[in-house]
Amino acid sequence: MQVDVVVIGAGAAGIGAGQALEAQGHSFVILEAADRVGGRAYTDRVSLPDPWDQGCHWFHCADVNPLVAWGERLGADFEREDRISSNMTWANGTWQDEAGLAESGDAFDRAFAAVYAAAAAGSDGSLDTILPNSGPWARQIRYVARLMSSGDPQDVSVSGYADYADTEVNYVVRSGLGDLIERMASGLPIRLNTAVTAVEQRPGGVRVVTGAGTIEARAAIVTVSTNVLAAGAIHFDAPDALPVLDRIADVPCGAYEKIAIALRRPPIDPGETQFCWIEPGQGQPLSFEFAPTRTPILIAHVGGSDARALVAAGRQAMIDLGVERLADAFGSAIRGDVTHAEVTGWLTNPLIRGAYSHAKPGLAGRRREMIAAETGDILFAGEAFSLKWEATAHGAWQSGQDAAKRAAARIG
Ligand SMILES: Cc1cc2nc3c(=O)[nH]c(=O)nc-3n(C[C@H](O)[C@H](O)[C@H](O)COP(=O)(O)OP(=O)(O)OC[C@H]3O[C@@H](n4cnc5c(N)ncnc54)[C@H](O)[C@@H]3O)c2cc1C
Repeated sequence: MQVDVVVIGAGAAGIGAGQALEAQGHSFVILEAADRVGGRAYTDRVSLPDPWDQGCHWFHCADVNPLVAWGERLGADFEREDRISSNMTWANGTWQDEAGLAESGDAFDRAFAAVYAAAAAGSDGSLDTILPNSGPWARQIRYVARLMSSGDPQDVSVSGYADYADTEVNYVVRSGLGDLIERMASGLPIRLNTAVTAVEQRPGGVRVVTGAGTIEARAAIVTVSTNVLAAGAIHFDAPDALPVLDRIADVPCGAYEKIAIALRRPPIDPGETQFCWIEPGQGQPLSFEFAPTRTPILIAHVGGSDARALVAAGRQAMIDLGVERLADAFGSAIRGDVTHAEVTGWLTNPLIRGAYSHAKPGLAGRRREMIAAETGDILFAGEAFSLKWEATAHGAWQSGQDAAKRAAARIG
């Protein structure tokens, strides 16, 4: 088979690339190893009574996010106000009052302002060295930092973190961000169950090798995660790609998993509150989201080494921990209200191998170099290749669009 461009991976980046190639009238095919499109965008319609997003769920930077227009166009149901920092907190046997919540909100604002200020002053140390000692809020702030970067604060570059141009406007996509991205792929030439095993640079183009044959093309756009690249799942015989491949290990994907628990009845009326922090004093705290579903579903979000430890403990241990924390805060009768539970497995999924990327301390420049690198007919896209929107679905989609335009300019 011969096409102008082969796109490897049908996640947000691959779909963004495909849409741009289609608009420009180029011949192309998207090769996807999994049996579904979307990658880390995945609305699970099976495991719980209502659909829920195992991966991306919010339009981050919603005031400038290009996927919002797609949501409008395709009739997605999404909120139009930011409730992401609307919290309730149960700590050491009691619910926090309004004054305590306001204090913790201020502590969060100070902590993350310190990160951006340190980066602006030239620091490329670890988040751990910059996050202030926030006293009673320190554990919660570090927990949230793990969710934001999917790495532990000691493993994440301050400067790399601050490359993210956060507008602090985040909308929940009630009908599923995975569902939206899947629908955006409709009509694109995508071959599922087709894993790419090798990409070879050839005079005037590329050869892309799969279990189902070889495709010759003028250019390839590679969108798999940095951990998939670092694991060597695709063999590159491509000297032009080395400026990216040599840097990929410095921009790894961390860990971020969810534990979703469906209940017969809601434990409380959350009102406008979106998150509930449950701190047992001893043991692993959890932050639960009140999911925007018809039936009550509470979803714990866990990042960094906490997520790695839970994945190692296994599915049932994750569910047991989630139920235990809910029982801590809402009383043990809630155990009898659990109807279904499910957990994610991004870390152990061989086609993803983590959550999303962060630069290591001292190495923020590696992502910038990777994005700026000239790699000939083999182009790279994906969340790791977005600077100002790193780690997000819209950043991945935009990077795919940009790579497709560069590929089109090369092949004329
Ligand atoms: C738990 C979690 C929560 C998140 N929450 C949000 C959120 O609320 N908002 C937000 O904007 N972002 C969020 N993100 C991040 C967002 O989901 C990702 O940044 C984005 O979806 C990545 O898209 P991508 O196209 O770069 O990569 P991927 O989605 O990983 O796509 C790459 C594709 O390549 C395929 N592939 C792998 N190997 C091969 C091969 N050898 N051959 C062919 N195909 C292959 C994979 O199966 C995959 O489909 C979250 C991520 C996680 C894990």
